[in-house]
Amino acid sequence: MKNKKFYLETYGCQMNEYDSHLVESLLTSAGFEKTEDEKGADIVILNTCSVRQHAEERALGRIRSISSAGKRQEIAVIGCMAQRMGDELLSVNSDVKYVLGTDSFYKIAEILESGNGSHIVDISCRDEPFDYESKPSGQSLSDYVTIMRGCDNFCSYCIVPYVRGRERCRPPERIVEEINRLDQNGRKEIWLLGQNVNSYKFDSMDFSALLGNVLENTEIPRIRFLTSHPKDFSQALIERMASDKRICKGIHLPMQSGSDAVLKKMNRKYTAGEYLDKIRKLREAISDVVITTDIIVGFPGESEDDFRRTLDMVEEIEYDSAFMFRYSVRSGTRAEKFGDDIPEEVKLERLDQLIRLQKRISEKKMAAQIGRLQTVLLERTAKQSAQDARGKNDGGLNVVARGGSKYLGEFADVEIKSSSYSTLVGEIAGRQE
Ligand code: SF4
Repeated sequence: MKNKKFYLETYGCQMNEYDSHLVESLLTSAGFEKTEDEKGADIVILNTCSVRQHAEERALGRIRSISSAGKRQEIAVIGCMAQRMGDELLSVNSDVKYVLGTDSFYKIAEILESGNGSHIVDISCRDEPFDYESKPSGQSLSDYVTIMRGCDNFCSYCIVPYVRGRERCRPPERIVEEINRLDQNGRKEIWLLGQNVNSYKFDSMDFSALLGNVLENTEIPRIRFLTSHPKDFSQALIERMASDKRICKGIHLPMQSGSDAVLKKMNRKYTAGEYLDKIRKLREAISDVVITTDIIVGFPGESEDDFRRTLDMVEEIEYDSAFMFRYSVRSGTRAEKFGDDIPEEVKLERLDQLIRLQKRISEKKMAAQIGRLQTVLLERTAKQSAQDARGKNDGGLNVVARGGSKYLGEFADVEIKSSSYSTLVGEIAGRQE
């Protein structure tokens, strides 16, 4: 089976992107060859997502289109949808030969090598701490480092605990080793990844202490982390963020709803007041912190008054940006039992109202950056002009730097001259060593 070519496609979150890097690393080490030419591949691997029904429908559509192209390519489905559907995927299409769940993909080389035409499904879940070593690939300046897998929170709408299993945390020394390897390979920014990084715990080390450990034992210039759960977002973490400029001043803190009744039904384990209190403390410690969030509208039982509370919270907090969704049922979750009683047109109307509000706030907050100097990691050439470069500022906002392409790969000071609701535009004012 050696020298077979594989084509890899990734759906969903950053965790899946990280896992795809691991899959690529495992397969190339075993002698498989990665190709960007889908039609020339012997095996097409789809790393799938189950968070929303739509994500699964897209992956199922891809399986059908790969198969109908008539190339007789083998299809391997891995990730969350593979974990959730298991054997069922074999009956979706006969070209699906391998189904590997979220804790089984590490066997992928062995399984593809042993392929003798028979179908293989492996969705076994392992409880022991995980650790796989990836080889840095590509030229990117920013990369992910997983610090934990799984989730113990069981938010009632979420499928993740069922498809990714319980929380397992990675030993700090392995995290540090991986960051140092990425640093040696030219990365200037790393994202510490987990479903709920704030509940990281290894022996007596919590997440704030892990950040301290990473600061002490690596020289990576920028550290970001994702995702935070408000209930575990601690004062110690706020102080750690404020204490060192290598930790970026941007935080994604999913609120989900501004109504205590809805939050309770979602099993989020915080109230709107507690959430607001954490935001206040964060802003007291870091005045220019960039805060983003996730919000679901139309959760079962959400009244007009509940929705109004969400709008009020958004008005009060003034997020820099937000991912906003209308609720859709995920089969197998607790919320499935609540029914889906909010009519689609009401969900759409609420979502539209929320998006319009957030867009207005984002525009205002972005415009407030005009005239300020921002440190930007210039990652790539801007789409509009080959002379310009784009990247992110410390808080994670998108910045286009006019004339910045000659500084690609570097940190530069950019003076902001104009803005839209999603991008800042400025001119290079200096370089950072
Ligand atoms: S914290 Fe809640 S929403 Fe996030 S992955 Fe865990 S169960 Fe899902």
